[in-house]
Amino acid sequence: MELRFFNTMERRPMVFEPVEAGAAKMYTCGPTVYNFAHIGNFRAYIFEDILRRTLEYFGYTVTQVMNLTDVDDKTIRDSRKEGLPLREFTARYKEAFFQDIKTLKIEPAEIYPAATDHIPEMIALIQTLMDKGFAYQAQDKCIYFSIEKCKDYGKLARIDRENQRDGVRISTDEYAKDAVGDFALWKAWDEADGDVYWESPWGRGRPGWHIECSAMSMKYLGESFDIHTGGVDNMFPHHEDEIAQSESATGKKWVNYWLHCEHLMVDGTKMSKSLGNFYTLRDLQDKGWQGREIRWVLVGAHYRKKLNFTLEALAQARETLAKFDALFDRLKKINTAGDGSEAAELVDNSKNAFASAIADDLNIAPALAAAFDLMRGANRLADSGELSQKGAEAVLALFREFDRVIGCFEVDAVRESAAVPAEVTALAEARAAARKAKDFAESDRLRDELTKLGWAVKDVPGGAWELKKL
Ligand code: AMP
Ligand code: ZN
Repeated sequence: MELRFFNTMERRPMVFEPVEAGAAKMYTCGPTVYNFAHIGNFRAYIFEDILRRTLEYFGYTVTQVMNLTDVDDKTIRDSRKEGLPLREFTARYKEAFFQDIKTLKIEPAEIYPAATDHIPEMIALIQTLMDKGFAYQAQDKCIYFSIEKCKDYGKLARIDRENQRDGVRISTDEYAKDAVGDFALWKAWDEADGDVYWESPWGRGRPGWHIECSAMSMKYLGESFDIHTGGVDNMFPHHEDEIAQSESATGKKWVNYWLHCEHLMVDGTKMSKSLGNFYTLRDLQDKGWQGREIRWVLVGAHYRKKLNFTLEALAQARETLAKFDALFDRLKKINTAGDGSEAAELVDNSKNAFASAIADDLNIAPALAAAFDLMRGANRLADSGELSQKGAEAVLALFREFDRVIGCFEVDAVRESAAVPAEVTALAEARAAARKAKDFAESDRLRDELTKLGWAVKDVPGGAWELKKL
């Protein structure tokens, strides 16, 4: 099946044709390790995870490189604030990042290069740009990339070069479009850097943020590779600058497909550290939410659409996943004889619908709809007593297959909740309804009934609940 991705460079969906048949090489801009990542960041990493899982689903061998930015303006600033050596300071957040991706069932990339382990590669790339006349040393001793020398600078973000101001230089890593100008490749040491510096042909200093991605991607993936991803906020200046550096150094097209995901929003604004409107994964875990519930919410919206984050969505995720869990447990108990033909059409249709949706620019809504249809169809067959063990096994096998992409279905988990009697679930549901209607006398009475039957009910945010055996 053909895979199609919306290529930001061309602003249109394009059929995926890798450089090397059967292989997919992708580079994803990773975390700046100066803090715990928030779930807005994880939206980007989950989109990239769905992308790599989809490529694998269709048989590609994926090589993914995700960098760890462990030296930049922010890591230096905050390590100094805490009085810790940079390496010690960033090690803490690197470790947290790896724990978090495990919680969210994000498949690890093949390579996680850290910027501080690749300074010689960055210096070599800057030297090439100097030799070719694309870079120069300014009076402040920093090395800058001259965008005037790069004819197609601005092609990704579609910058209007007509109105560009000349002679502007920017030494900070992040800046807005109206500050387009020559950007720093190498920053000369200053006092704010403390003991963070490396020797270079141009004196003591440290690399700019953008050069690290060019140097490390080309080291591990070659001078031209298939896919580069990030959040939309990375498009300018970060990715624009990466393209200018890489293509000027090699004279070749650097990346064939650019994919960018939209933001995770809170009340209409981007979730971000600087606005303070963020949840880390840990915040949500502390409130009792599970990794797969958070993942389900982040997976559920198409990556090119903004997603508004709410706790209600998490409560809904819990309910939905519980329905899938109940189906898996039900199917595993079916032992009726038969050849499975009763489920063949359902399984085929669901499989095709899922594959064609996900192949079409990771179109998640119809892909999940295929999973819901499979659930409804399987329950219907089981209700009517038509479903054989073979048929049930085929349905379970297809859910396992879907989960290679979705990563939220726990088809083979052993669940305590499987043992909850229907009568107990009904009482808990009635109690939740009473609470919602603010009939607290009734909800207390139902809680007592549950206690008498040996079950404790615990409320969780967003109106959901959990049952535990006393
Ligand atoms: P940063 O650590 O700020 O460089 O961000 C790491 C990744 O998270 C980048 O790919 C960003 O584009 C992405 N990102 C940051 N905030 C959000 C958000 N609210 N929604 C989606 N992606 C985000
Ligand atoms: Zn990058």
